[in-house]
Amino acid sequence: MTKAIRVYGVVQGVGFRPFVHRLAEAHGLAGYVANKGSYVEIVAAGTEDNLAAFRRGLVEKAPERALILHLEERETEPFPGEGFSISESEAAQGSRFVPPDIAICGACRRELFDENDRRYLHPFINCTDCGPRLTILDEMPYDRERTSMKSFPMCAACAAEYHDRASRRYDAQPIACHDCGPQVYLLDGTTRGAEAIRSVRRAICDGKIAAVKGLGGFHLCCDATNEMAVRLLRERKRRPTKPFAVMVRDMAAAEREAEIPDALREVLDGPEKPIVILRRRKGGRIASAAAPGSRRVGLMLPYTPLHLLLFDYPDGCVMPDALIMTSGNPPGAPICRTDGEARETLLPLADVILSHDRRIRVRADDSVMEVYGGGPYMIRRSRGYAPLPVVLPSLEHVRDGVLAVGSELKNTFCLGQGGLFYSSAHIGDMGDSRSVECLRETTARMASLLSIEPRVVAYDPHPAYHTARFVEELGLPTVAVQHHHAHVVSCMAENGWTKPVIGVAFDGTGYGTDGSVWGGEILLADYKEFTRIGSIAPFLQAGGERAAREGWRIATGLWRGETGTEAALRLGLGNEEEISAQCFLLDHKVNTLTSTSAGRLFDAVSAVLGLCRVSTFEGEAAMALQFAAENWDSEGEVFDLPALGMAEDGRLLLPTTALFLEIAKRRLAGESAPALAAAFHASLAALVGASCRAAREKTGVSTVALSGGVFQNTLLLRLVERNLRESGFHVLRHRLIPANDGGLSLGQAVCAAARAADKN
Ligand SMILES: [Zn+2]
Ligand SMILES: [Zn+2]
Repeated sequence: MTKAIRVYGVVQGVGFRPFVHRLAEAHGLAGYVANKGSYVEIVAAGTEDNLAAFRRGLVEKAPERALILHLEERETEPFPGEGFSISESEAAQGSRFVPPDIAICGACRRELFDENDRRYLHPFINCTDCGPRLTILDEMPYDRERTSMKSFPMCAACAAEYHDRASRRYDAQPIACHDCGPQVYLLDGTTRGAEAIRSVRRAICDGKIAAVKGLGGFHLCCDATNEMAVRLLRERKRRPTKPFAVMVRDMAAAEREAEIPDALREVLDGPEKPIVILRRRKGGRIASAAAPGSRRVGLMLPYTPLHLLLFDYPDGCVMPDALIMTSGNPPGAPICRTDGEARETLLPLADVILSHDRRIRVRADDSVMEVYGGGPYMIRRSRGYAPLPVVLPSLEHVRDGVLAVGSELKNTFCLGQGGLFYSSAHIGDMGDSRSVECLRETTARMASLLSIEPRVVAYDPHPAYHTARFVEELGLPTVAVQHHHAHVVSCMAENGWTKPVIGVAFDGTGYGTDGSVWGGEILLADYKEFTRIGSIAPFLQAGGERAAREGWRIATGLWRGETGTEAALRLGLGNEEEISAQCFLLDHKVNTLTSTSAGRLFDAVSAVLGLCRVSTFEGEAAMALQFAAENWDSEGEVFDLPALGMAEDGRLLLPTTALFLEIAKRRLAGESAPALAAAFHASLAALVGASCRAAREKTGVSTVALSGGVFQNTLLLRLVERNLRESGFHVLRHRLIPANDGGLSLGQAVCAAARAADKN
């Protein structure tokens, strides 16, 4: 009997074909396995029993990194040959799975430090189970000749391993060794190889700043246990307070620095090796300047051989257990990936730059996640995760390719076709022209890698978004997707939910259909459409761009009608001149918008409580408010507030201005900031619960989707989730797709595909 089997999923670049080969031989089957681009094809001939056992083994014994999403099997004409082989890759049309990069495996790590191994201390050691994938890909299918490794012809020894079925490196595309692989060097033009690594290690030990080329871009790096070095990096990077990520030597070092929940240990040390934001332990050695004023720290483990060599090298230099590893990029711009970019932007920041000659084809920042509900809660989805698809069988029949260009901040894009939606790695902020260029370039590359030709472009209709020009250039039919609708759809899609939901979309800012600033929205939504059924109470946002960073401006506005300027002065929101200038803007509606932004409400409360008057990075004020609330050791008080109101258009209004005034009044009366911060969270969660109950009564819908950047606040998320569950709601929330604008493109793409489905 001969069977043809098609396997769909992550089956390229994860050692799947060699695995099939070994399995087929173990069961005495003849035939071949081939990479078809969108799937792996297996033709296998043998007895019925052997074929059945083979089929079971495919699923049960698949390599750890493989992910089988779908398997098709049919009987076919008898296979004429003998033996089993791997046939050369053929490109094919259709949906594809582009493999993400994989952190160095245990076996390679052991060889790296084994003096008797021929790859002893080789900075590019990898195998079938680990190494670069997406970041070195030119084209699919994934084969050496279509990657950055094509400039490094295999030496005889590597070629022998590559072709040896028994080898750990059988069919490992990026295989390399000292003789044939890429080389590291300093950007001083002379120092190469071992001496380059030694120099960088010395520089770091001496408290200097290094830039190091990694898997998906350059990092800026220094001794994380050296307060002065970390401060120097902050000064040079002009980043006063935003936390830096820290790479720790190993799990033991991670345990010394932070509390690691059991479920997160596997994630931290898993093949993706993301940055995980953890609670710091007392007595840890990481400098406080790494995350000023915060009880948390973002930790990751080394994920490339070069990282391991930075920590350990036989040169007598004693390295610290923790290194700052922050993306090497100007704020908002994409991470640097070429020597040219590094020279231009990192040379003024770094004392020494360690590069190498394996080209990075697709950038990949480190992924960042928080811990929530005992599992990961994604903040930035990039290396290791992008571009794995979200699979929505209900949209499988939509054959037209969709491109969603994402948001202005934290931009990602998303390509979708046939029910598969591939969100890109983090790009950057579109206010920087380099990010727009990166978006342009990466969409083209990914469209070609995935073999998706976009027929329609989904975008955010905000008139000031820099994505608009790019959308225009594409010259394709467009679909405008309202910002908060996209958030809600992204959450539905991540959960595979297709029925209507009550969407709670809380974030900093999004363009409303009425031209005002939205950001505290309750929507009745499905993939295609939405109705705005509620929002927080509108307020005036005066001062343009600055109002988005300066919470005291929002607070002054919220206070205006009630207590005049005197109270604002007493709480130190500003000096007399500042307050009266702000009041002038408000009174004369200069540079003033109507807003329902939940993010700005958090900023205002943070300012009133004296926690953060002006943010130096996005979300700083809200984070300060969350941390203050978490420092309060009991449940926050739920204030008695007026009932839900109603706007002119009939939507529900959450009495959030009343909540703000209650907080302000109590603060003036001398109540503690942490207590009030906790009460703000608890009371806001209660208001969200009340509005969802009212929405359920109106609509009969009892599933709620929680999305938008404000839900990065895991305290608020926990309180809202609990409130809703207690009221019998089914709650959808994010896990591996960010709640913030990084998840927006997925929602846009799914919305556009759902609308296209109607036309088919
Ligand atoms: Zn390996
Ligand atoms: Zn070699």
